[in-house]
This record gives sequence, C-alpha cells and structure tokens, in this order.
Amino acid sequence: MPGRLQHKSAVITGAGSGIGLESSLLFAQEGANLILVDVNLPNAEKAASLISERFPNVKAIPFKADVSKESEVEAAIALAVKEFGRLDIMFNNAGIMHPEDDNALNTEERIWDLTMDINLKGVWWGCKHAILAMRKNPTDESKGLRVGGSIINTASFVAIMGAATPQLAYTASKGAVLAMTRELAMVHAREGIRLNSLCPGPLKTPLLMDFLNTDEKKQRRLVHLPMGRFGEAVELANAALFLASDESSYITGTDFKVDGGLSSAY
Ligand code: NAD
Repeated sequence: MPGRLQHKSAVITGAGSGIGLESSLLFAQEGANLILVDVNLPNAEKAASLISERFPNVKAIPFKADVSKESEVEAAIALAVKEFGRLDIMFNNAGIMHPEDDNALNTEERIWDLTMDINLKGVWWGCKHAILAMRKNPTDESKGLRVGGSIINTASFVAIMGAATPQLAYTASKGAVLAMTRELAMVHAREGIRLNSLCPGPLKTPLLMDFLNTDEKKQRRLVHLPMGRFGEAVELANAALFLASDESSYITGTDFKVDGGLSSAY
C-alpha cells in the first residue's frame, strides 16, 4: 500500500526533538523525502540516521538553520527543491519557551525579541519561502485542482486560552501565529496552498518539561487536563500527518487543536 505522503517532499523545522522528531519519523514512514531543519545539527543528524535505518526508501537530509534568519530558512527550502524537485509540505514547528520569568512586569526586552524572532518571524520566513516554492508546483489536472501544497504552523493552546503562568512573550507569539496563518490561508487558498495552525496542549517534551521542572509545577498543570495526562509528541505528529496529507484537502485556515480536551474544559 502506498504511503500517505508518497512522492511528496517536506521541510520540517525543529526536527531534532519532540513534535518535530516524531513527525519526521512518521512522515518518512509514509514515504516523504525530508529536509530536517534544526539549529541543533547533531540532533537533526541523529533524526536522519534513525530514518535511514528504519526507512531506507526515503531520503532525509539534516540541515542546520536558525529559523529566525531568513537566508537560512530560504536555503533549507531551496535544498528541498534542488534535491526533490518540489516542495509539498512545510512544517513550521521550531519554537522556544524562555525558561526565565516572562511576564508583563518583569520580562526583559531581549527575551521578548528572541521569542518573537524564533516563534513568529521564523514562521513568517517559512511561510514566505514555502509559498514561493509551492507556486511553482505543477497543477494536478486529473483532480481539477491546483495542487500547491500544505503549510502547517505550530501554535499552542495558549494562543486560545489564558494560561496563569509567566509566559507572556510565548503566548503573544503563538496568538500571532494563529492570526497570520488564517490570513495567509485566505490569501493563498485559490493557489491550492493550504495553511493550518496546529495547537498542541501541554506535552511531555523537553520544551515543557524543562519549564515545569518540579513535580509540584507538573501536578499544578495536570489538574487542568481533562485526560489527566500530558500529551505525547507522536499524538501531534499524527495530526500533522493528516494536515500534511491530501486527506485534509478541504481544510485550510483552521486552528487544529490537539489538546486532550483542554480548550473545552471549564
Ligand atoms: P522541543 O524543545 O522538544 O523541540 C523544539 C526543537 O526546535 C528543538 O530541536 C530545538 O533545537 C529547535 N529549535 C529551537 N530554536 C530553533 C531555531 N531558532 N531554529 C531552528 N530550530 C530551533 O519542543 P516541542 O515541544 O517539540 O515543541 C515544538 C513546537 O510545539 C514549538 O513551536 C512549541 O512552542 C510548540 N508547543 C509545544 C507544547 C508543549 O507542551 N511541548 C505545547 C504547545 C506548543
């Protein structure tokens, strides 16, 4: 049976850990060729080795880039087009949550700027250069559709709900990702380019576990989770796979929540 991403090529940012790593493995399993972008090159290389061991039929190339730098994101997308002939999927997933106090009264401008540069500007660069590449993809006349591509931007449940934790710059950056993604989805819908935000709930990945670094902090967060547990990165990878594949061909502009029910909780 052909994979759900057979003959597609994808760029995944933050591919060396958490959601990005699980998505890289899953996309490879489903037949996609990949550029694995991470600012941490050794982790991207480890991801590429895992893929070549498990899925030798696909190509996965590790690529060091800081998503806040336009030229580096552009180079990653150019590499996908050079190696695979086209770009079908852009997963703008890399993000940071600054471990220092990040609230309106105490946060420093440098933390605000760093968070915005990576979490928001990085997604903008990824969208901009992916759209330019996807515009060149040939139309699928058999389906009567313009098959441009799928762009997935990782936001967060905090973009929808207020979290009583000091992460203001993070929350603001993720809210802006939702707004930007919706607008780009409208502007590019008729080019066959779909854009959706993925809104994870709290997950058992280094990003959150480093932030909730005591049992007490973890327990305080767990109380609010309807399922009584943190999510797993692979549960987000499954959703990203759906949004990346043609199975979601009529879905664009959504805030796709994978949060264990958190955003419906009272
Ligand atoms: P993670 O820390 O496990 O992985 C993030 C990856 O991004 C790392 O490999 C890191 O090296 C890379 N990265 C960081 N800055 C980068 C940069 N400037 N350029 C390129 N790569 C960079 O985190 P995760 O939990 O898998 O988070 C992935 C995304 O999901 C993030 O955007 C995060 O904000 C979002 N998210 C996470 C949670 C959660 O609970 N973990 C909840 C909601 C949203």
